[in-house]
Amino acid sequence: MKKKVQEDLFDKIVSLCKRRGFVYPGSDIYGGLANCWDYGPLGVQLKKNVKDMWWRTNVQERSDMVGLDAAIFMHPRTWEASGHVQAFSDPLVDCRKCKQRFRADELSPEAECPAGGHHDLTEVRQFNLMFETQMGVVQNETSRVYLRPETAQGIFVNFANVQSTSRRKLPFGIAQIGKSFRNEITPRRFIFRTREFEQMEIEYFVHPEKSEEAFNGWVQSRYAWYKQLGIREENLRLREHEPQELAHYAKGCFDVEYLFPWGWGELEGIANRTDFDLKRHAEYSGKSLEYFDPDTNEHITPWVIEPSGGVDRATFAFLVDAYDEDTAISAKGQEEVRVVLHLHPRLAPIQVAVLPLLKNKEPLVVKARELEMELRKHFLVDYDERGQIGKRYRRYDEIGTPCCITVDFDTLEDGTVTVRDRDSMAQDRVAIDQLRSYLNEKLLID
Ligand code: ATP
Repeated sequence: MKKKVQEDLFDKIVSLCKRRGFVYPGSDIYGGLANCWDYGPLGVQLKKNVKDMWWRTNVQERSDMVGLDAAIFMHPRTWEASGHVQAFSDPLVDCRKCKQRFRADELSPEAECPAGGHHDLTEVRQFNLMFETQMGVVQNETSRVYLRPETAQGIFVNFANVQSTSRRKLPFGIAQIGKSFRNEITPRRFIFRTREFEQMEIEYFVHPEKSEEAFNGWVQSRYAWYKQLGIREENLRLREHEPQELAHYAKGCFDVEYLFPWGWGELEGIANRTDFDLKRHAEYSGKSLEYFDPDTNEHITPWVIEPSGGVDRATFAFLVDAYDEDTAISAKGQEEVRVVLHLHPRLAPIQVAVLPLLKNKEPLVVKARELEMELRKHFLVDYDERGQIGKRYRRYDEIGTPCCITVDFDTLEDGTVTVRDRDSMAQDRVAIDQLRSYLNEKLLID
């Protein structure tokens, strides 16, 4: 990518997202609600494609994985057992003069107050990141519930249910995608850090002696997933946590990081969580969460490998990595800047655009509409008849559509169409009865 593109890449992507209907500011007509974002027609499809590919790789294509969709509200004891009630917090201080709020551990004692002199700080208090609300109509201590701050605990509390009903032997894993909520002190950077977000999480249960092997396998396979879906290697890295970064119970952790416009940022963490979670839930619930190994006749508490990623962050990384500006020749024969998203064809929110050459020639429109409806059964399709054909191609380049199909006068004669490739801008003439297999190949659909 050219340097110039990189410099204001962040702003360009935010603006493209709004202009083309990927992501809008939340509650826009009321002036927005800070750091809340709504996914528009293209964004929701892109995000769905990301989730579908994750599910396909991690559940559908593996014989050792099953899925789950647990409730967002969970028994409050869950969050005591997990440690979130006690420890999922940041130290907070307020300045009485400038009214700003800071994380105490990030504020230097020499920091100057915008209202003059030094800050006049309140006592440090622990600010728990969990959102609290009341369940039912009577407000008292027993009706207090939390919006889950991670999806993982829904998996742990269902370990025994899933293991027995799906009759799984170790090793096996449970996958879940869903919303999580954290009252982040400093949400920022568009959809990178928000207070409401989606997670894609796996808890993989193994015999303690096999945990290292499984851990290494998941680190490699999660890294490979981002690469397979088009993230360039130079923008992707694995970072091993230093021993002091690890939670006291964790045996190891790697982050998959992406080079965002502002620097490296975490996409996903893969941790070896030992038997901590299952043991804690067994203790707090009084239910056994041991596994009986029929091969060795022993009762064990499995160890857990947890690959935990964010849907919004992954979606953002795919957008950033796909963005490019190159040059194309306009209808007037002049060079012009072309904005193009080189999204992987399985992620593109629209895979195929069907375009009649002219909108006022009825036979072309009828044929194009017929083709559109046929292709909709198999692909993500859009139809557009407005404007010059070159301009239409540009509009689809900008949203990452891999193939544009033009229906012209020859189509009516010989049953062929032009298929134009987003990346090379090359055009192929393809017979309509060959179109489906041609597109399957182009779009990497197997
Ligand atoms: P960070 O250090 O960035 O706050 P974390 O280490 O606390 O993240 P985890 O608790 O490991 O994050 O959550 C797993 C994944 O969930 C993260 O890798 C990220 O992709 C996603 N995630 C976590 N917090 C947020 C958030 N506030 N907004 C969007 N995604 C998030």
